[in-house]
Amino acid sequence: MSSPVELQQAPEGTDYFAIPKGMWLPVKIDGQLSARIGCPKCGESPSLFDHTIGADGTVTPSAVCPVKGCDFHEFVKLVGWKVIEW
Ligand SMILES: [Zn+2]
Repeated sequence: MSSPVELQQAPEGTDYFAIPKGMWLPVKIDGQLSARIGCPKCGESPSLFDHTIGADGTVTPSAVCPVKGCDFHEFVKLVGWKVIEW
């Protein structure tokens, strides 16, 4: 298995729907902490709400970009991820 694609945390204040390619932002949906990522291929910002994010930022299962025509489908790791209280 190849190593996961490492995504870097986007700066605070980044627009949730305009996350730079290859970065991530923490989000809270229905009280659950998750993240949105900037797809490294198409630049859309899909949510990882239906994924599990481990303590070290490893995301399972692999991330699939939902955008039509985008074939991004990789294991990803959120560098700098930590479980935070909101
Ligand atoms: Zn994509």
